[in-house]
Amino acid sequence: RVLLEEHGRDERKRRVPLAVGLKSKRQKRVLVTGGAGFVGSHLVDRLIERGDNVIVIDNYFTGRKENVVHHIGNPNFELIRHDVVEPILLEVDQIYHLACPASPVHYKFNPTNVVGTLNMLGLAKRVGARFLLTSTSEVYGDPLQHPQAETYWGNVNPIGVRSCYDEGKRVAETLAMDYHRGAGIEVRIARIFNTYGPRMCIDDGRVVSNFVAQALRKDPLTVYGDGKQTRSFQFVSDLVEGLMRLMEGEHVGPFNLGNPGEFTMLELAQVVQETIDPNAKIEFRANTEDDPHKRKPDISKAKELLGWQPSVSLREGLPLMVADFKQRLFGDGDKGAA
Ligand code: NAD
Ligand code: UDP
Ligand code: UDP
Repeated sequence: RVLLEEHGRDERKRRVPLAVGLKSKRQKRVLVTGGAGFVGSHLVDRLIERGDNVIVIDNYFTGRKENVVHHIGNPNFELIRHDVVEPILLEVDQIYHLACPASPVHYKFNPTNVVGTLNMLGLAKRVGARFLLTSTSEVYGDPLQHPQAETYWGNVNPIGVRSCYDEGKRVAETLAMDYHRGAGIEVRIARIFNTYGPRMCIDDGRVVSNFVAQALRKDPLTVYGDGKQTRSFQFVSDLVEGLMRLMEGEHVGPFNLGNPGEFTMLELAQVVQETIDPNAKIEFRANTEDDPHKRKPDISKAKELLGWQPSVSLREGLPLMVADFKQRLFGDGDKGAA
């Protein structure tokens, strides 16, 4: 009787199955793979805040339990230690698929992008869930078009040291579109450009986390190559907003999600100096192989169809990350060094 009252007359006519009726009407069951990582944990915060029932799958390869520990004990939150390369059976409405070693230091020789994505698409097919893939601007490789629009097919070395990541994500996009066309799965594809913010893995080798940790530790900032290569840096809260709009909206994508503000690595080093320590030294190092020379998103499509655009500039976002890194590096007694 409670169930019928809760759902009202219209719902009764539609014969809502018991399992659905037992839940509060609008509570979604959302799976976040890689939810203990940098981006995933911020996404989980927003979903929990919205009242969703959230399941996180993570094998802690680069993520940390500390990133989600504040939700443990909340009945709407469940944390599963699991490698997405292995199949898993769950019942959910939406899947945000983030699990993936995302830094060049970690992603080499890892099958997560292909096998993990296949498993999560298989899961989406079995339970009829909507599936969002977090792809990357790396699918554009060393781009010959600037800025990059979603229509550009990219310039990727298929046998290079980065190919496990960029080709892996390209395969992941292909699999998602094949499941969409072939099995009718609702998919959403985000191509994420370089993102930074609190909870970023301190030593995973990405440039913003490297520079910030180096400046705080009074080490020289390591600029690779001549430092004239460019990237566009997005604050994590802007990304999470874009991902949620994409998931809830009607468009498959792909959509570029990034901040068009473009910086050379030398300019980035300068912003870090201004924010943390004007006396920080710069040390040049050999660049990595196949490093893209420039990268900047064209976000017209996301603006038009998702009504989304980033709102936090690098100079506004960086101090928020610095505060978090300071606490993790030098501690407040509770958390200690990461
Ligand atoms: P991250 O390393 O902090 O998060 C990835 C999470 O996935 C980690 O918690 C890790 O432990 C988990 N994971 C890795 N392999 C797994 C596996 N086999 N099974 C289960 N869990 C696994 O990185 P992030 O920056 O939060 O990236 C999240 C997603 O966004 C990734 O898919 C990444 O490719 C994509 N992306 C990020 C950026 C960026 O600049 N941060 C840019 C482009 C794309
Ligand atoms: N899979 C999974 N959880 C599920 C359903 C499928 O992990 O709930 C895995 C399954 O083990 C397989 C992959 O997803 O490896 C693809 O599944 P699909 O059913 O599309 O392909 P098939 O098993 O028919 O080859
Ligand atoms: N980079 C750098 N110093 C570092 C780490 C990276 O100059 O300590 C450069 C790197 O060569 C690349 C850019 O910063 O040109 C961005 O590198 P990152 O690994 O952060 O991201 P991605 O290459 O995936 O865009």
